[in-house]
Amino acid sequence: MRTAKVYAAYDAVSALRPHVIERRHLATDDIDIDILYCGVCHSDLHTARNEWKNTMYPCVPGHEIVGKVCAVGSAVSRFKVGDYVGVGCMVDSCGHCASCADGEEQYCEHGFTGTYNGPVFGGENTYGGYAQSIVVKERFVLAIRHDPGQLAAVAPLLCAGITTWSPLKRWARSGQKVGVVGLGGLGHMAVKLANAMGMEVVLFTTSESKIADAKRLGAHHVCISSRPEEMARFGNQLDFILNTVAAPHILDGYLNLLKRDGTMTLVGAPSEPHPSPAVFNLIFKRRQLAGSLIGGIKETQEMLDFCAEHGITSDIEQIAAGQINEAYERMLKSDVKYRFVIDMSTLV
Ligand code: NAP
Ligand code: ZN
Repeated sequence: MRTAKVYAAYDAVSALRPHVIERRHLATDDIDIDILYCGVCHSDLHTARNEWKNTMYPCVPGHEIVGKVCAVGSAVSRFKVGDYVGVGCMVDSCGHCASCADGEEQYCEHGFTGTYNGPVFGGENTYGGYAQSIVVKERFVLAIRHDPGQLAAVAPLLCAGITTWSPLKRWARSGQKVGVVGLGGLGHMAVKLANAMGMEVVLFTTSESKIADAKRLGAHHVCISSRPEEMARFGNQLDFILNTVAAPHILDGYLNLLKRDGTMTLVGAPSEPHPSPAVFNLIFKRRQLAGSLIGGIKETQEMLDFCAEHGITSDIEQIAAGQINEAYERMLKSDVKYRFVIDMSTLV
């Protein structure tokens, strides 16, 4: 057992502050990781503030973890001390249900164990990546093949990357016209990945100030979603839309942009529901509204390897651990360029 300095939320309204936790003894299949960087996901904020009504306190958020292996259990075969590794949103699952057998551990029929605040369906709390170290089963540890100089910008791939990669792979293909709604942490990864996959990307944003960035990141068209005349230009044109918005909003305007049989997939997880969509927009063109949760471990490794091969990382603003509360406030104002990443060496 070793102690780790962390940043923790103690309740839904106070600022996060320093705390010390104990990590478990290494089991034979465990890997002990010194955390170098951890991305800041909007889900961390939803959880720290109990917006999903399931937070166990103290809560140590963080599920975009990149670090260096410092010890391995006796049965570990794929990693050795000194390797650079990643940990995403999950640290365990039952391993034998139909979803686990399909490599879709995020849909484990017994509920996967979250990297933090998990299992929410019972059992002990888990503590995430705003920490100096973490102990994780080998099965949930990812190999990082990027240049070591890119590690901070790789961290957000562990959640923002896989959460956008998985639905893009499932619902869209090269040559298709794809919409991305919201240019935040998830949205900017969706733009980069869809572009690299050969799709024509239309970015929908509420922020006029992000137009130039969206184009630089790989969007072929940018549409200010509050302007009906701009939205109308894309009516019935899109094969697929990935909606990453973290707040409730009216979905009809986007559903109208889908072609016949097109799908809009929601990955944004606001605490309050969206207004119910108008069914006629769906039934007259057999359109579909879907959801998607992160991605399995196998496809997370595929996404990381694709990104290493194509030189894809996140656009980040590196912060010290003590700046986390300020980062949350900026995230709430859609002022993220485009992912905050905590440099864990500042956790002293
Ligand atoms: P983020 O960095 O805060 O980005 C969200 C973006 O949504 C903002 O930058 C903004 O983009 C847009 N937006 C925010 N408020 C809006 C509003 N009221 N109306 C319209 N647009 C608004 O958040 P994130 O980390 O990307 O996460 C996005 C959501 O996905 C969160 O709810 C998070 O919990 C969820 N999530 C889900 C999964 C999953 O597995 N399904 C995984 C990770 C995260 P513009 O300025 O461009 O409009
Ligand atoms: Zn996340």
